[in-house]
Amino acid sequence: MIKIEDYIPIVGQSIIDDLRLIAKKLKGKIIQNINSTSVGGGVAEILNRMVPLLKEVGVDARWDIIKGGEDFFEVTKKFHNALHGKPQEITQRDFDIFMENSLRNLEEINIYGDIVFIHDPQPIVLVKKKSNNLWIWRCHIDLSTPNERIFGFLMDFITKYDAAVFSAPAFSHRFPIRQFLISPSIDPLSDKNKELPQNIIDSVLKKYNISKDKPIITQISRFDRLKDPIGVIDAYLLVKKYIDCQLILAGGTAADDPEGLKVFEEVKEKAKQDKDIHVILLPHNDIEVNALQRASTIIIQKSLKEGFGLTVTESLWKAKPVVASNVGGIPLQIKHKYSGLLCRSIEGAAFALKQFLNSPEYAKKLGQNGREHIRNNFLITRHLRDYMLLFLSLFYKDDIIYL
Ligand code: UDP
Repeated sequence: MIKIEDYIPIVGQSIIDDLRLIAKKLKGKIIQNINSTSVGGGVAEILNRMVPLLKEVGVDARWDIIKGGEDFFEVTKKFHNALHGKPQEITQRDFDIFMENSLRNLEEINIYGDIVFIHDPQPIVLVKKKSNNLWIWRCHIDLSTPNERIFGFLMDFITKYDAAVFSAPAFSHRFPIRQFLISPSIDPLSDKNKELPQNIIDSVLKKYNISKDKPIITQISRFDRLKDPIGVIDAYLLVKKYIDCQLILAGGTAADDPEGLKVFEEVKEKAKQDKDIHVILLPHNDIEVNALQRASTIIIQKSLKEGFGLTVTESLWKAKPVVASNVGGIPLQIKHKYSGLLCRSIEGAAFALKQFLNSPEYAKKLGQNGREHIRNNFLITRHLRDYMLLFLSLFYKDDIIYL
């Protein structure tokens, strides 16, 4: 059971006092979260921590999940890629599948929230059930260059919401509804992020046959082309010409991502050329992710597109030197040469990796800066506060709220 007081040693007493005060104003209101998966990916990661914490401070938060067959999730993955700006062929049949499934969910799901908080495009159509309650669409996708056809299709639904929430300024658009900028966060007390004893870290390395004798470069991500695992291998191979090191590419697949296994097989095939590349299909196990991040010399996140990049947040919180692409929400977290190194290409990634491997003191300093940057901006306590203020601002509209 998490207790909000447990966060005092990390963020200080006054922040926790504020949270309790704000939560009181939401008494009696039900916040109904809806998304499409309970495990895998950043959205599920956040809801798994946020919903219990909202309850802990006294807010009646609930969480429901829509249903969908394989064909529906194939379509929503195409939508996801296209919204991120990836070229993607979408047929009329895809739109039909999306709508048929959405209408089934619309019939089956029970809407009871005073605020209905919809996460990402998969459940977006549910807003057709809007009555006198308030609806928020929380978009976790990098919408800076969306496929216009999909975006236009979704606009019919987005505009029915009372508000939309984005993770970075570049993702916002001209909408006739209110927009909020709220960055995601990590929970420093979760199994994914809490301190771990060295013997647990060592046992995970042993389990996956990873040596402690050479530097370890790691990318933890779903096996997804937008995470560019093949590009990570290419960057690693450029580094390996000069410095002996190992690469870990570890990740599971998400229940709403049917492409995962195919990409995993491609990555495994490519990895065959170097015995120091470890491609690991992770079971859903937060301690193992935590241990692999902590065991790493450097964390890489070479995404081609990224909503926010929680893996970057998690790694910086562990004071790791991070090399990551300058995309999506990553530059909010990494100030180049201050809290990590940003890159724009395979060669750029390789250059940054070499720089860290050759200058351990520099790497350490940037890792420490990164941890403080996350403490100040991207922990769940800040996120909780932002969400509660968002709910309040919708209930009270133009009124002044006396806390
Ligand atoms: N993650 C995990 N196991 C995996 C791969 C990823 O637990 O095998 C977690 C990762 O630690 C992070 C989240 O899933 O908390 C991924 O969020 P991110 O924003 O980095 O990317 P997304 O998957 O949402 O695109």
